[in-house]
Amino acid sequence: MRKTLLYGLIVVTLIFSAFVGLPRGVMADKLIAITFDDGPGPYTDQLLDGLAKRKVPATFFLLGSNVKKYPSVVKRTYREGHQIANHSWDHPNFNNLSQSEVLNQITKTENAIDSAVGTDVGKLMVRPPYGNITSAQKSAVGRKLIHWSVDPLDWQYRNATTVKNNIVGSAREGSIILVHDIYSTSVTGALAAIDELKKKGYTFVTVSELFRRKGINMVDGKMYYNAPANGVDLGPPAPPDPYAFDESKLSEYWAYEAICYVKENGIMVGFSERKFGPLYPMTRAMFASVLSRMAGEEITAANMTPFSDVASGKYYAAAIAWAAEKGIVCGYGNGKFGPDDYVTREQAAVMIVNYMSYKGFTLNENAVLGYTDNARIHSWAQPYVAMVSDKGIMVGMGNNSFAPLENISRAQAASLLMRLHQMQL
Ligand code: ZN
Repeated sequence: MRKTLLYGLIVVTLIFSAFVGLPRGVMADKLIAITFDDGPGPYTDQLLDGLAKRKVPATFFLLGSNVKKYPSVVKRTYREGHQIANHSWDHPNFNNLSQSEVLNQITKTENAIDSAVGTDVGKLMVRPPYGNITSAQKSAVGRKLIHWSVDPLDWQYRNATTVKNNIVGSAREGSIILVHDIYSTSVTGALAAIDELKKKGYTFVTVSELFRRKGINMVDGKMYYNAPANGVDLGPPAPPDPYAFDESKLSEYWAYEAICYVKENGIMVGFSERKFGPLYPMTRAMFASVLSRMAGEEITAANMTPFSDVASGKYYAAAIAWAAEKGIVCGYGNGKFGPDDYVTREQAAVMIVNYMSYKGFTLNENAVLGYTDNARIHSWAQPYVAMVSDKGIMVGMGNNSFAPLENISRAQAASLLMRLHQMQL
């Protein structure tokens, strides 16, 4: 009976996780956003120091007139990863303004922020002063509107402890906290509240991140007060891809000719129809695969597979078995090949020389190394690097260095494979 109940719970949990897109067993973070209005001001730098120390991102609803007074503080706020947002030019009550006056308040502030930050920050989220905005103005503004759900009345209670207690007392998951960083007591109280809320398990995120992580798609002209608990947490954003490349610029890239060549000759294939991924490193499995393709030999599944970490079902299994049998690649000596490890430039040199020898090409064994970083090339790789450089198959990088320990990129591989192919190898 008890077991049945347990299984039931597991099933329910799994179904639930599947719905909200969380990895099994991972709890949603208790997300919360803190926002600072009416700045920047004389205490904003102190606030930024405190936020940096706590690694807490916040959202700043700036007044355009203050942006003009403190442009370097705005730039710092932006650079330190906080969200910059718009609180009008000089804090009028929108209820008393025409639509064009409201728009002017908003665009004038965005322009001031653009010039303070030094880049076009685009259409920012808007918090109307006092939270006041008419329905007609909401749609005319064409921006996401942000209210708040926690108001410590910090402008009224100029006491840090009161501010802290007011924030902590009303904070809930998904709350948007309103504070004004133009009062010293507010800055001290807010930082103390952050410490307490972190101890209670809250994770601070910017307003946009709060809604994104909770799976809420924000729309222009709508006022948002908070993002209440819904069990959803899409998780932190994926870290930027260090090998990302704008493929629309491929034809301007130095390796373009080689990339076209290896694609046309079927030596290397793209990640997909339109993507080549020139900056991605080559894995050992990929390298063995392209060499087997270059060789153009019939590779049978008969001679599979000498390595314990190369599963026979993988696309590269036959190629690795073939390359190992022909002495082009070797394993790590412990029965493993490391198919997913990246190929360093010196490892590539060894494989290329082995491949050329297998194809019956005579290399100059007396070739001399001539790189500025000769000493960084492992002794086992030095004769190979010398031979492959002597024939101009691999060439140095900037400053006549070989960079032996750097990973070989797909673009670099394309250009050396083109040279080999043109030598009928
Ligand atoms: Zn305000």
